[in-house]
Amino acid sequence: MKSIFLNDVKTSKKVKIYETYSVYNKSSRLFRADIQDGDWELLLLKLQTVNAFPLNRNESIALADDQMKWKEHKREIEEGTVSTNVFVAVSDMNLLTFKEYKLQDAVSLYTELAKLRPFYSKDLQNFSKVFGLPMGMENIASNIINNVDMLDTRGVNLANLNDELIRFRGLFRFFTNLMTKNMDALRLNEKDVALALLEYENSKVPNNKEQPDNQPSKWGKYNNNNNEILRDNITDDELLINYKKYLIMQFENIDGVVLKMDFDSNDDSFFPKIDFVNLFQFAYYQMMKALINNVELIKCEYCGHVFELAYKGRRFCPPLPNRKRSSCEMAYNNRKKQK
Ligand SMILES: [Zn+2]
Repeated sequence: MKSIFLNDVKTSKKVKIYETYSVYNKSSRLFRADIQDGDWELLLLKLQTVNAFPLNRNESIALADDQMKWKEHKREIEEGTVSTNVFVAVSDMNLLTFKEYKLQDAVSLYTELAKLRPFYSKDLQNFSKVFGLPMGMENIASNIINNVDMLDTRGVNLANLNDELIRFRGLFRFFTNLMTKNMDALRLNEKDVALALLEYENSKVPNNKEQPDNQPSKWGKYNNNNNEILRDNITDDELLINYKKYLIMQFENIDGVVLKMDFDSNDDSFFPKIDFVNLFQFAYYQMMKALINNVELIKCEYCGHVFELAYKGRRFCPPLPNRKRSSCEMAYNNRKKQK
């Protein structure tokens, strides 16, 4: 097997998962609760100062369903029927009921995260009971509740989370189309991908160097000023490579991913280590690893979502953390029994 750097990356992080995650808005009792835990109180105070609005900076890559849902949500906010300040969080009463799992062992995290639909808080609550909240308020709270050994995410603003989720699902769709060589689907975003690569390429050119404007770049085909097509269609192989580069470029843009060397205290071996501060980062890392290793993706016979084929003959999504058996397989067998 080819030696791939990403395969050697390790993380010693554990993830704390709570039994109950609830939906709150600013005025609900969570923020008036009698809080025992000092850190949590500080976090809640900070949460109240955040007033996020869905940014939808990912419109061009969003799945059609997500896009529709986002527009609906935006309309509701404009009409004043929903609040922009909604959180999914663990209440202080529920802080004592938790489990843990090792992040490294959550092999199907990224394929499970892709199933999570934005704007469905039930989806998020169910996912979080198994994997924990996918992200928190990293920019304001990471130093409070996350440390080197443990991801302990207790609350997230839904608008921020939905925005991140829309991006992840959009990129995951590109990833699955790429891995399954679904050329018709890949052609649909050919232009967005080429333009993004062109922009990226231009951003790497030193300021004092003139970038020729109307030259076809090696990605192709487009001029970033007027989006004009400058060359005939690229081949399927070129397109696959463009997508691969595009996805790797997206990975480079993930905030807060820090790679460092560490050693194993048991045998004094050294290995690269990434300090993941949320589950999205880990999921992107898994996606990149799968991309570079060219893993085989297949569809689960129960839920129809894709998963990584770890061994031949697997037919269902892999078992979730802290479970021995695949929940899709069990549901499939139950359904069969009932027939
Ligand atoms: Zn499944």
